[in-house]
Order: sequence, then C-alpha cells, then structure tokens
Amino acid sequence: MAKIGINIATGSLQKQEMIVGIDLGTTNSLVAIIHPDTKQPVALKEFDGLSLVPSIIHFDTSGQITVGDDARKYLLKEPHNTIFSIKRLMGKSYRDVQNQSSFFSYKIIDDNTEGLVKIMVGDKFYSPVELSSYILKELKTRAEHILKTPVTKAVITVPAYFNDAQRQATRDAGKLAGLDVLRIINEPTAASLAYGMGLKKEETKTIAVYDLGGGTFDISVLRITGGIFEVLSTNGDTYLGGDDFDRQILIHWCKELGITEDELANHKALAQELRLVAEEAKKVLSTSDEFIGSVAEQEVKLTKARFEDMIRPLVQRTIDSCRNALQDAELSIREIDEVVMVGGSTRVPLVKESVSRFFNKQVHDSLDPDEVVALGAAVQADILAGNNKDFLLLDITPLSLGIETMGGLMDVLIPRNSKIPSKAGRQYTTQKDGQGSMRISVYQGERDLVKDNRKLAEFNLTGIPGMPAGLPKVEVSFLVNADGILVVKAKEIRSGVEQSIEVKPQYGLTDTEVERLLMDSITHAKEDMMTRALVEAQTEGQQLLEVTSQFILKNPGFLTLAEQNETEHAIKALREVMDTGTKDEIQAAIEKLNEVSRPYAERLMDKSVQSALKNTKIK
Ligand code: ADP
Ligand code: MG
Repeated sequence: MAKIGINIATGSLQKQEMIVGIDLGTTNSLVAIIHPDTKQPVALKEFDGLSLVPSIIHFDTSGQITVGDDARKYLLKEPHNTIFSIKRLMGKSYRDVQNQSSFFSYKIIDDNTEGLVKIMVGDKFYSPVELSSYILKELKTRAEHILKTPVTKAVITVPAYFNDAQRQATRDAGKLAGLDVLRIINEPTAASLAYGMGLKKEETKTIAVYDLGGGTFDISVLRITGGIFEVLSTNGDTYLGGDDFDRQILIHWCKELGITEDELANHKALAQELRLVAEEAKKVLSTSDEFIGSVAEQEVKLTKARFEDMIRPLVQRTIDSCRNALQDAELSIREIDEVVMVGGSTRVPLVKESVSRFFNKQVHDSLDPDEVVALGAAVQADILAGNNKDFLLLDITPLSLGIETMGGLMDVLIPRNSKIPSKAGRQYTTQKDGQGSMRISVYQGERDLVKDNRKLAEFNLTGIPGMPAGLPKVEVSFLVNADGILVVKAKEIRSGVEQSIEVKPQYGLTDTEVERLLMDSITHAKEDMMTRALVEAQTEGQQLLEVTSQFILKNPGFLTLAEQNETEHAIKALREVMDTGTKDEIQAAIEKLNEVSRPYAERLMDKSVQSALKNTKIK
C-alpha cells in the first residue's frame, strides 16, 4: 500500500518516502537507492556523473563548510583546515591514534588521553561525530536534489569490526545530519546483498568478502542460511589500505628526490601534494605499465613492476588475514562458495590476482567496487521499507536487556545490538537463609541502575526449598526469538522449580525513545560508574555486617574480650558510613572489619577442618 503525504509547507503532494542506503566511507561516501522502475539498486549520480563524494571537509576562514570534491582541492593549499579520513577517528581516544598522528595533516587535540579525540580547526573544536555528520548532511542534500523529494530515512553501513562505540557514533552522526537511521549494517553483508546473495530463501552459502578500501582492510566470512546472515569470522587491519600503497610510493619518491622525513613533517603542503600525485600514479598503474608525473616541479616516474614490488608485502598481509579468517571460521578454502571484492583498492591487478589465487576461484568483481556497499545498503533499505516481503529482516536488539540484582543494579544478559534470535543465561542465588522465593525484574536500557532503565516485566519464582543463603542455584535465561519477543525463564536447579514469562521488549518504544535512552547512557556514563561502585560497596558492607553479626550470635564465647570490643567498634564504624559515606569510606570500614575478624575466622576454619578430618576415615 503506497502512502501519499502532503507537504504542509508547500502544499504539494509528496511521493512515498524513500529510504536510502549510505556507505559512509573513510575515503569516499555515497548514496544508493532501489530504482522505482527497474527495482535494481543504483548509486545516485549528480549531473557530473560521479557517485562518489570524497569524505573530505573543508572549513574556510569564515567557518563556511564544504564537503566532497570541492573540499578535496584544499588538501594541498590548506592542510590544517581540510579534514580527511575522519572515519578512522570515530569512537577513538587520542591514545588510540597518537602513533598515527603524523598521518593527519590537521590538528588532533590531546586534551585528555582517556577522552575521545577532538579536531581543532581555526579556533574551534569538532568531534568526529560532528564532522561525519557534515558528510552525511552533504549526502542527504545531494540525494534530495537528485530525487527531488525529502530524504529523512537511511540505512548506513559500518565495517564488521566496528565496536559498539563506533556504531553508536555513526548513528549519532546520522541523527545530527537529520537522518533517521533505521539500521546500521555491516559492510560485507551489504556487499553480498548487492550481488543478490542471501535473497533466495532456501539458499545456504559461505561467502568471503574481501574489502580493501582507502584506510582499512577487512576480510569477513559470512554464512547465509534462509536469508539470515551470520558472521563466522572477521579479520583484517584497521590501518591497511590504499592510503598505504600511496605512502609506499611517497616514501620511494622522497628517497629519489632527497626529501627527508623532517622536511616532510614540516611541509604539510608538500606532503599533501606528494600524497595526491602518488595516488594518481597508483590509479594509473591499475590500467597501464608506467606513470610519469611531477611533484614540486620535478619529474617523478614509476613502473607497474616497481609498484608491485613495493606493495607485495602489504598485499601478502591481507592474504595472511584471509588465512586466519578461514582458520577462525574452521573452514577450508574449498568450503568458500563465493568471493566478493569490495573497495577501490581491489582495482589494483596484483590485489585481484593474489586473492583469486589464494581462494582458487574467480572473484565477484562485476559491480563497481566503490559502489557495491552502498548498493547493498539500498537493498536492505528496500527490505525495511516493506517492498520485499519474502525476505527475513536481519534484526538486532536496540537496547540491552537484563535483570535487577542486589542494590538495584542492572545486570545485562543480552547486550544492545545483539543479533536476533539471541540467547543468554546466568546463575543467581538467594541473599537470605531459607528464602523461599526470588523476584525477577526484567529491564531494558543502558544505565547501571535499574531505576534509570525501563521495566519490562516482573515475576516471582516461588517454591524454592529452604536452604542457607547462597546455596540455591537459580538459572535465569533470556531468549529473544526471531519475532523480537523476549522469553525470560527462571529455574532453581536443585529443586527444579521454574517459572517463565513472555515480553515484547520494544513494545511501545519509539525510535526517539530508544535514542533518548542511549543518549542518556552516554551523558551519564561517568556518574553511573560512580553510582555502581558505591552501590557495590554498600552491598558488600551490608553482607559483611550480616555475616559478622550472625557469626557472633552463633559462636558465643569464641571471641576473646579484646576481639569482641574491636569487632563491635568496627561494626559500628561501618554502620555509620553505610548510608551517607563515600565508596572509599565504606571500603575502608569494610577493610577494617575484615582485618579485625580475620584472626578468629581463621581459627574457626582450622577447627572445622580438624573436626572434618577426624570424622573422615581413611581406608
Ligand atoms: P573507503 O571504503 O575506505 O572509503 P574506497 O572503497 O572508496 O575506500 O576506496 C578508496 C581507495 O581506493 C583509495 O585508496 C583509492 O586511491 C583507491 N582506488 C580508487 N580507484 C582506484 C584504482 N583505479 N586503482 C587503484 N586504487 C584505486
Ligand atoms: Mg569502504
């Protein structure tokens, strides 16, 4: 059923909203859609016929921002104001990237080595998320211009090795650009989809996706069964790509031209020029045997054979990664059904030949290697738009799922972004002697205290037979089935009593609410960590107080008078700081009480060991 909307501002009819696929690359980014007539994925092209938008941002002195080819021109002239490779910095701290800082010709700020990196342009600071959002905004504007319709919804791809922080940063960048990011999908999954793999329901296939881009190398082994993609293994190098080929050429020419490392470091503009001409040479050598050009008014040359010698060790490293990926997936080369080539650097003949030789197979390279990821993102977008009903959705849990444990802490069983279906279990025990029931409260969210998260369900596991505290074993298991329904089960292992409940985790939660919950968890991360530490100290203190009091009650006369006095003193001191003290004060009081009780606890231990030995007959 097609929906028609009316644009309130203009009064005009609006076409059904388009969901676009976006490849937000280190080097190049682009947008693709499913063509409404042909139903085939196509990359959006401006009148210039180019689909790729270089992921480069330029700031002029008045703060005006340009993105793409226009920004690229400034790499040479204004290296400090021209940002490239920003994807490498997504979700990273300065410490993560300090060894690479000579690679960047702009200023990366080291204000706090634990914190996330910031980039300084002029007198302003920018986060990688903000900078990426400028690229996405440019892509959105371009797409709207080409499609003549608003574009507000998108699927964005990320490398398979991106961690949670990096995925979240990408999502945030989309949001900042005014895009509703319906899904973040893995680049290798997108590339396979672009080749139509996984679109047939009955198909089972094992695919190796070899992605050599500008800044990163990624090999992923995927298995598709019944339309579901499973990542069997990933391997690669987050600092290996076409940029490194350029760098090899640059180093070679520097030697030839007598340019020292110091000179290069001090002449950012010269370094950039070398970088650009080196890249040009590399591209030329993908189709010819020799390159002749000039740098700083001096002639530079390179043959294909010489270039291949330079990059052979780098290419070999990618092949070693492929071997490791297969090993991790416990597969032999023969078990790989398809090999998909992704990334502009797979145009280098030596790369293609080496991969094909290793896998002993013709590789898939009929689609444009720079566009294939975006094309696949468009296929996924189309599935999300409901235009491809036969296909199962690849889904993930939007927020973490867990239960409340002592002190109101959230214990996560299924982390955010887990694949659906998903399963997890953990054992818990009782806090009190003879406790006959246990309350299981299920929550959704990222905060450390359950009160800041969203309660989904609650039930009581009753009928636990009377046992001392800590003895019952209650296994709590979470299962999110393919429909996104969460089933929570609690079972006391010794007695076999069990109880379960079904919940729809996302029920009633809009995308905006999910975003808010996630944003909250980011803004409160530090505070949450401190609260968690405090609650843990309080819980430990409470338990110690109970145990010690019980001990004294059960073993009258076991303590010397001095021990008794000291213990009472330490108990009192701990009680005093329990509710109002800081984590450190509580821990100090716990330590003190432990110290005081250690001698008689050990004495009791010896005694019970001796009596236990007495009763054991050795045959
Ligand atoms: P990313 O995924 O990192 O954004 P791309 O897939 O767009 O990167 O690949 C960019 C890389 O591909 C750059 O290093 C570029 O120099 C390289 N590249 C593009 N075209 C060619 C070519 N014809 N020959 C060799 N390398 C190329
Ligand atoms: Mg890429």
